[in-house]
Amino acid sequence: MPVPLLDINRQHEPLRQELMEVFQRTLDSSRFVKGPELEAFERELAEYVGTEQAVGCASGTDALMLAMQASGVGPDDLVVTVPFTFFSTAGAVARLGAKPVMVDVLPDTYNMDPSKLSDWLQMYCSVTDRGVVESRSGRAVSAVIPVHLFGQPANMTDLRKVCEEWELPIIEDACQSVGARWEDEGAGSMGLAGCLSFFPSKNLGALGDGGMVTTDDPDLAERMSRLREHGGRGYLHSEVGWNSRLDALQAGFLRVKLRSLDSWHRGRRRNAAFYDRELGSLSQVVTPRIDHRAVSVYNQYTIRAVSRDALVSWLRNKEIGCAVYYPVPLHLQECFENLGYRRGDFPVAEKASEEVVSIPVFGELTEDELEEVCAAIKEFYDRESDSE
Ligand SMILES: *Cc1c(COP(=O)(O)O)cnc(C)c1O
Repeated sequence: MPVPLLDINRQHEPLRQELMEVFQRTLDSSRFVKGPELEAFERELAEYVGTEQAVGCASGTDALMLAMQASGVGPDDLVVTVPFTFFSTAGAVARLGAKPVMVDVLPDTYNMDPSKLSDWLQMYCSVTDRGVVESRSGRAVSAVIPVHLFGQPANMTDLRKVCEEWELPIIEDACQSVGARWEDEGAGSMGLAGCLSFFPSKNLGALGDGGMVTTDDPDLAERMSRLREHGGRGYLHSEVGWNSRLDALQAGFLRVKLRSLDSWHRGRRRNAAFYDRELGSLSQVVTPRIDHRAVSVYNQYTIRAVSRDALVSWLRNKEIGCAVYYPVPLHLQECFENLGYRRGDFPVAEKASEEVVSIPVFGELTEDELEEVCAAIKEFYDRESDSE
């Protein structure tokens, strides 16, 4: 029996009528860009995440760029992030003309290692009247972007401690983690700004692209809402922005889907618990470790697996969906050669990229499908040990 990695149709089918109504309402309204539908969604999402403000934009990538530009990240600045993430986290930094600096992740959660951040700052930076600068180059360090990877928040307790000490703003890349929690706080509400993506495969996916920045800072929100429209107000431009808005149609679809999000998350957690039980005892597999302070929304269920590439081929042959997120860490990407990193610089990220594979975890999976995935993985390792 084939099992897809993700089947968005199953999620949309029960909502078909409501989604069609959004389409009709929007068609009749002739308000296609921004408008009351977007404002309502911004309010609802801010409340869901736990912030005062939210600013919709065209993608998660744009959310990162808006948050950085509005918080004062300038060209030539350094922004600290991680090598083990979706390309966009560091891509957005480079697109702004700033330079991504990387610190390694933790081997169990794949999220930014607070002690590596602290080490980098202590070894290479100093505090001047311009704020934190990299001592060697004199370039300003202007933000830290931890990623809440695969649905689990990074250790914000320790990251905030380090960033408060250095007075550095945190911009959370919460693109994979809407609804996740760290202690009592929502992903996207713990830094100066939180960035969300509504790419269709995210936990809250639009029927197209979309993104949002959440923040408690009204001035930051105001600046971002100007920047998303060429930086102006009424044809007066104090700075240059770009065109990055969230369509009324997508905002309407997302409002409908937001109402089901918590129940989809429950489904993902139920499926993750199933895998934890079934796969946890295999010596060749490491199941995800969720920090006791975190609630994950399992955008991915990512295991470490012995003979990962052979397992991937085996699953593909059986038409069981799986994917490697991410096969090449960002410091080894061709376009980042100029950053001057080499293999060996971030051993934890490099090892993860060789060992991880994500298996289906979306909320609508049936128990038969979950069993099928587990049986295929067990069969693979049974055969491997037979042939030894
Ligand atoms: C998806 C994603 C982004 C970018 O979102 P888009 O909407 O595709 O631009 C950024 N960071 C992470 C970690 C993501 O998963």
